[in-house]
This record gives sequence, structure tokens and C-alpha cells, in this order.
Amino acid sequence: MHEYSLVRALADRVEEEARSRQAVAVHRLTVAIGAVSGVEPALFETAFSLCREGILADAELEIRRVDAAWSCPSCGRAVPSDPPLRCAVCGEAARLSGGDELILEQIEMEVP
Ligand SMILES: [Zn+2]
Repeated sequence: MHEYSLVRALADRVEEEARSRQAVAVHRLTVAIGAVSGVEPALFETAFSLCREGILADAELEIRRVDAAWSCPSCGRAVPSDPPLRCAVCGEAARLSGGDELILEQIEMEVP
């Protein structure tokens, strides 16, 4: 389950960020998980609950799901994510333009 290593990496980043700002606690993390990122939000949450320690002991995890988005590689128009996944104007096959991300969007921390 690769969610564990992702959460581990995320926790390291948050700890580093918290340390650099002399935070005493982290209250909440907001993470955006794309629908086609290959990350399962439920597993991510489970992994997070097992990694909660130190400055993250009381941190809440908020997951924001991001839908897949497609666009035309030649004109840049957004393409609806239903078949045939082609641009209505140029007929080009759409390219994935969003939804494959895993982003740490926000950290709420307590800085004395
Ligand atoms: Zn196009």
C-alpha cells in the first residue's frame, strides 16, 4: 500500500514546515487528492491515523477530492470527461489536465 509512504513523506514535510515556524501544534491539514492520482482517500486516511505522532498528534486531516479534468492539447479548450474524450472543435484526443495530483494545500498550525 503506497499510501503509507505518501503519508510518511507528507508528515515529514509538515513537521519541517511546523519546525521552521516554531509551531507548537498542527491542527489541520488539507490535502487535495485527484480522482486519477492513484491514491485511495480511505487508505490515505487510515495511513494518516497511524502516522499521527509528535506535532501531528492532534492534527485533523481534511481531504478534498479533485475530479479528473481533460483539455485539448491543441486549442486548450476543456473537454468533458465522458467518451469520446475528444475536442469538439479540433477533434484532438484530450489530454489529462487535472485530477492526477496529490497536493498539500493548507496547514493550520499554532504558533505561539
Ligand atoms: Zn481543440
